[in-house]
Amino acid sequence: MANTLEKIVSLCKRRGFIYQSSEIYGGFGSCYDFGPLGVEMKNNIKKSWWDEMTKLHENIVGLDASILMSSEVWKASGHLTAGFADELVECKSCHKRFKGDELKENSRDKCPECGGKLTEAKQFNLMMKTFVGPVEEKASQVYLRAETCQGIYVNFLNVLDSTRMKIPFGICQIGKAFRNEITPGNFIYRMREFEQMEFQLFCNPKEADNFFDYWKKERMKWYEKLGVKKENLRLVEIPKEKRAHYAKRQVDIEYNFPFGWREIEGVHNRGDWDLSNHAKYSGKDLKYFDETTKEKYFPYIVETSVGVDRIFLMFLIDAYEEISGGRTKTTEAKKEIEVLLKLHKSLAPIKVAILPLVKNKEELVKKAKEVYETIKPFFTCQYDEVGSIGRRYRRQDEIGTPFALTIDFETLEKSDVTIRDRDLMKQERIKIENLITKLKGEF
Ligand code: ATP
Repeated sequence: MANTLEKIVSLCKRRGFIYQSSEIYGGFGSCYDFGPLGVEMKNNIKKSWWDEMTKLHENIVGLDASILMSSEVWKASGHLTAGFADELVECKSCHKRFKGDELKENSRDKCPECGGKLTEAKQFNLMMKTFVGPVEEKASQVYLRAETCQGIYVNFLNVLDSTRMKIPFGICQIGKAFRNEITPGNFIYRMREFEQMEFQLFCNPKEADNFFDYWKKERMKWYEKLGVKKENLRLVEIPKEKRAHYAKRQVDIEYNFPFGWREIEGVHNRGDWDLSNHAKYSGKDLKYFDETTKEKYFPYIVETSVGVDRIFLMFLIDAYEEISGGRTKTTEAKKEIEVLLKLHKSLAPIKVAILPLVKNKEELVKKAKEVYETIKPFFTCQYDEVGSIGRRYRRQDEIGTPFALTIDFETLEKSDVTIRDRDLMKQERIKIENLITKLKGEF
């Protein structure tokens, strides 16, 4: 019996959510490509986060910084020193590699897979290198960013000067990040190329604790608003000895994956680590003059940082349901296990399916295509005429389409269609002229 993760991997490939990178060449490890449904859903996740941050908060603005930056940035951030290295150990017998912090305290000298002897721990820097310009020499070496937030810190002054924002204010960014992970795996949970959504709030040091508490709650609310089951989410306060070196406080938001509770997002009070270091390395004055208190200080930074791919996997797992014997009452359905993806409507890749009852009646097909043309500028739609209507409903349930419209013979007389709700399987008739208003009310 396949476990839930294996089922999700298979669904993703079968229905075009996610493919292995470079698959026709045997695949490229720990990188993945998002297919036609995957890219829609990923865009929906990003839009939901972006709107939540920038539209609902007047003191948060966006940014899109470049991936390649001056190497000085990574010196100042600590990424080129021990701060961004993992401990790597290798089994001398089976040559499997492990992250030091993944090994249990009492078995640090024995391979958990085969019991073989492990090598001494080596520091392994996670930054990926590349070169700019025609000569591959040390001077032209640069790094692919390992996190998006550094692009925000180095633009702190630019944003301050060009927007007249006053503290407290925030900058958010969505973008790719790269890490040479020692142990990638669990499908898209840990990859070497991934996407982050990061938010950095610049505030008065005295207010950082309050903002930290506020933002950890806000982030939990966002997941709950998007329908993630409460019992599968938890906040874990990280004690001082396990925190990232820059963090004055750290809370991990964890999700109960099929492979255990794992981090999906980090909320950190980073103190003045970032701005004070960038000031030191760049020689620029990155202190802020607070007109209200007449003080000059390095703002503290409260950060929320989440991986788009990680929560993509979480949303799929959380929404995945199997119904043996089928929900629909057709005879073919009874033999099968039906898959229902109860994705939040706003995240579903396809919002509305348009289905003529049968495909061999020209008038029905023509009408269905008319309905499709009317709706498609407003919602991401899919027109489908292949197979029995029951089978088509199941195909849409499997990819989480919230609504299916069926065009039948009554449609031709009364200019109405049935609208089927994915979760309730309730079907109502609705006039075509009212469809857009009705659907707009649903999203
Ligand atoms: P982990 O302990 O899992 O390696 P981290 O604590 O190093 O994560 P951060 O540096 O705080 O992670 O990055 C913030 C977020 O970016 C993580 O919560 C996660 O959602 C995402 N992320 C980090 N590394 C990866 C990766 N290799 N693949 C996918 N997402 C990642």
